[in-house]
Amino acid sequence: MQADVRTAAAPDAAAPDSVTIAAAGRVLVMQQAGAQHRIDATTLRGACRCAACTAANLAGAPAAVAPDTRLTAAAPIGSYALNLAFSDGHARGVFPFGYLAELAVAAASTDAPEQAA
Ligand SMILES: [Zn+2]
Repeated sequence: MQADVRTAAAPDAAAPDSVTIAAAGRVLVMQQAGAQHRIDATTLRGACRCAACTAANLAGAPAAVAPDTRLTAAAPIGSYALNLAFSDGHARGVFPFGYLAELAVAAASTDAPEQAA
């Protein structure tokens, strides 16, 4: 049972300049060190690392994420993470800023083919 501990060990998880919920809750926008990270609510919900979601993932049965899942709140936890709340009522996830940046980069690379420009 080997958990992914990269984020916990990341020393460069700088606090963002700003965090906003955009597109009626569908996108988290994080300004960090001159870069703008945009992460879909469904991506974030699926990437939740709370105890319940981690246990479900380890059991091979991750929670289903509805395609219309939206963010309902983003609250800072100290200076290292956000607590995100979702429209399905799930609000236990703690998302370190470094982890959010990783998710944004991963999402940007997988979303690239969708850009018609
Ligand atoms: Zn969770």
